[in-house]
Amino acid sequence: MDHVQDQVQRDLDDALAKATRRGIGLPFCEECDEPISLLRQGLGARLCVAHQSAKEAGQARGGRR
Ligand SMILES: [Zn+2]
Repeated sequence: MDHVQDQVQRDLDDALAKATRRGIGLPFCEECDEPISLLRQGLGARLCVAHQSAKEAGQARGGRR
């Protein structure tokens, strides 16, 4: 029965790899190559916390659309 768990784990890894490849999130920051947590990758993060907040601050200042 062990291979059932193996399969589940493989499905998870696969889904994660696919999600990352689809551009939902990146394992490393686009700006500085800092590792991005899986949780933030799942939320679509492509930047580390520092660069993400810098970008959001810049967007807020530049006016929203
Ligand atoms: Zn960064």
